[in-house]
Amino acid sequence: MSDRLMGKNIVVTGAGSGIGLATAHILASEGASLFLVDLKADAVRAAANSVVAAGGRALAWAADVSREEEVVGFTECALREWGRIDGYFANAGIGGRIGALTDLSLEQFRSVIDVNLIGAFLALRHVLPVMVAQGQGAVVLTGSVASERGLPFTVAYNASKHAVLGLVRSAAAEVGHQGVRVNAVLPGMVDTPMLRTTAATIAADRDSSEVVRDMSRVSPIGRPARPSEIGEVVAFLLSDAASYIHGVGLPVDGGALGTMNNAG
Ligand code: NAD
Repeated sequence: MSDRLMGKNIVVTGAGSGIGLATAHILASEGASLFLVDLKADAVRAAANSVVAAGGRALAWAADVSREEEVVGFTECALREWGRIDGYFANAGIGGRIGALTDLSLEQFRSVIDVNLIGAFLALRHVLPVMVAQGQGAVVLTGSVASERGLPFTVAYNASKHAVLGLVRSAAAEVGHQGVRVNAVLPGMVDTPMLRTTAATIAADRDSSEVVRDMSRVSPIGRPARPSEIGEVVAFLLSDAASYIHGVGLPVDGGALGTMNNAG
């Protein structure tokens, strides 16, 4: 097992489930101390307990990443606890309603933008000054293959994930010379509760595993990713081994973006 994150203090949002939870375990196993954040208090407490039970270090904090005062609250708390923040995985996200653009209400559109885009902006807004003052730090945001392609019936999600890539590129241009790296991972289909919910929505009469398998044919590998397969890449991007990777959206999609039919 690698100890490349030994001594690093890392914040993970959306840590109560799926990609965030799997990533937390990998980061802790590589030596990082973690500050885990999720909207769901029980889930984030359970996540921290499971990391500690596995021999890692983790604190839990319940917060909504789309609310600035709550982001300020946990960022300040992590800073008080550790004195510095070396890494930040801004991963919390929601899928939103599946359906035609013209059937989406403004409230439904906004609710996705609030979490996926405003949440990512607030993460950067409040951690970049800390990292710039340290002269060191790495941030990874969770984008999606939907950051790079127009996918149907998911316009709010699609727009929010395109914008995440815009945040990464713009922030990278601002802070690269100050020792801070900003990147995104762009997962394809990942077998998490979010994907299962989407599968159950688009084919309510079918077994969700089967639907997930069908959706995953967008990758030539032909199966969904395990959440840990995204977490391994996040751990790399947050480590010093990725010291010259900056301002990118790195696909972790089983080849989907390189091969998919752009018409969807
Ligand atoms: P998930 O639903 O399993 O986990 C998401 C977590 O984020 C949940 O624990 C949830 O409580 C938390 N969360 C939601 N809104 C929040 C808020 N406002 N504040 C704090 N926490 C909040 O989903 P996942 O698949 O692990 O998704 C994680 C990220 O990966 C998301 O940004 C998602 O868009 C992205 N992603 C997922 C897939 C996939 O196929 N599963 C593909 C591409 C990108």
